[in-house]
Amino acid sequence: MATQAISPDVLPSYNPATGEVSENIPRTQPQEISGIVARAREVEEKWRSMSIADRSQVLNRLKQTILAARNELVDTVVRESGKPRVEALFADIFVSLDTAAYYAKNLPKLLRAERVPHHSSAAKLKSGKLQYEPFGVIGIISSWNYPLAIPMGQIICAVAAGNAVVCKTSEFTPKCGELIQKLFCDAGFPQHLVNIVQGDGEIGQALIDALPDKVLFTGSVRTGKRVAEACARNLTPSVLELGGKDAMIVLADANLDVASSAALWGSFTNCGQVCLSVERLFVEREISEKFLRLCVEKAKTLRLGPGTDSTTDVGPLIRPQQVQRMKELIADAMSRGAHVLCGGQARPDLGPCFFEPTVIASADSSMRLFQEETFGPILAIQIVADSDEAIQRANDSPFALSASVWTADNERGRQIATRLRAGAVMVNDAISYFAIAEAPHGGCSASGWGRTHGRAGFLEMVQPKYVDVDGLSGKEKPWWYHYTESLGAAADDFLNFEFGGVNAKLRHARGALRTFFRDHGFGKK
Ligand code: NDP
Repeated sequence: MATQAISPDVLPSYNPATGEVSENIPRTQPQEISGIVARAREVEEKWRSMSIADRSQVLNRLKQTILAARNELVDTVVRESGKPRVEALFADIFVSLDTAAYYAKNLPKLLRAERVPHHSSAAKLKSGKLQYEPFGVIGIISSWNYPLAIPMGQIICAVAAGNAVVCKTSEFTPKCGELIQKLFCDAGFPQHLVNIVQGDGEIGQALIDALPDKVLFTGSVRTGKRVAEACARNLTPSVLELGGKDAMIVLADANLDVASSAALWGSFTNCGQVCLSVERLFVEREISEKFLRLCVEKAKTLRLGPGTDSTTDVGPLIRPQQVQRMKELIADAMSRGAHVLCGGQARPDLGPCFFEPTVIASADSSMRLFQEETFGPILAIQIVADSDEAIQRANDSPFALSASVWTADNERGRQIATRLRAGAVMVNDAISYFAIAEAPHGGCSASGWGRTHGRAGFLEMVQPKYVDVDGLSGKEKPWWYHYTESLGAAADDFLNFEFGGVNAKLRHARGALRTFFRDHGFGKK
């Protein structure tokens, strides 16, 4: 009797709104990874030599494929991540489409070789150019919170630059990973150029061990450190997009109605599970009472529910453990003097992962809520005397991803931005720069290193190669053999000529010229 083989090794596609598993997705086995990387490397050889126009055309097809598949994509993102439909559309689908559109259009400009003008007279007769070449195979390890926007943004950039990709999507969003694979197949990318591998940290580790040419990691600080160590062992370069603890500074002249709406959205969108979430809000004392009242009034109107309900504002957390974490963070904050102004409760009546949007006052740096990444729907507010105190407190964090400043005075906003330790600062907006294709994203310190998005992110996907063509190919160079005493004297004249003042230049010009017209002493046959 034939028995049906059921793979014991699958990843459940779990719905955080209901706690149900809708299907099981096959895991990749760790021993398969090196073969996948090797195959990707073979395909990449042809892909990198394809013309930029042809590559742009495939990217355009990808854009059309994403657009045509958007309903299925949105349904899956909502089901696996729990976020409201609107957020899946504005964030995951928009970023995927816009990244494909951006690279399809801008690839010729981004890859154009750049002339490198030489300032030194020693190099004036050489013509230098920088050209950009792909690394080879990029290993991408991705988080679950934007299961399309983050991996798609990085994969598209990598292949646009001429690389192949092996991407491990999160075990929390395996169906999204499967759909990403399908998008690249349907758009007509060469087989095995983009490879999605599925599994947990073991697969991530196996991917790093398979020696891709570069690793892009998005995830927590804890895992980021392990990834950095593993990459360092192989001298594999890495980009680390890690956690954030973003500050929002509300100055007394800000439009409080707008700023309070922004504070709620910045803290609660994606149920607060955003690396760029507003996690520490600093408001100037003179307007704090009104600002807090507005935040609380508005927070009470937000609708908590499943992302499939079109009127839901805030969806569930990703897993029940996160609900427990929110309770612990709030208990710690309250034991140190914070007050819950609204929310603060789990909602098991709605499902296993729901937690009320919460506004907390009198938060401060003694609390876990201000020290650790919250990654949940908690708006924690501290009142400050003035902008100087706000800046000092905002910078008092190991994280440095992004921040926002709210003021009627844009110039003052810009000045404050220069004093904030962060990879990006928005004046009168929060988070949305992530969806601007030209804007680089990334931080420093505990928030990681390197950049994704924008030109800076594109440059992470290519190796600059400097090509230099000599203008005097028929002449031996002054600094070649044989070395003599007179060459030493001429070199000294040259340094005086090159770096001295006007008088020195006049005095040493003749000597310096001797370096150029020197006899190398080899004699002529
Ligand atoms: P994790 O660090 O838990 O996981 C990130 C990825 O790494 C997952 O795919 C995970 O696999 C994988 N992984 C786990 N262990 C290893 C290992 N030893 N070697 C290689 N890979 C491994 O983060 P989350 O997925 O929970 O994402 C949330 C975090 O990501 C937050 O801290 C958030 O701030 C950060 N983040 C940062 C962003 C940024 O751009 N700066 C953007 C979005 C999120 P698996 O989970 O499948 O087991």
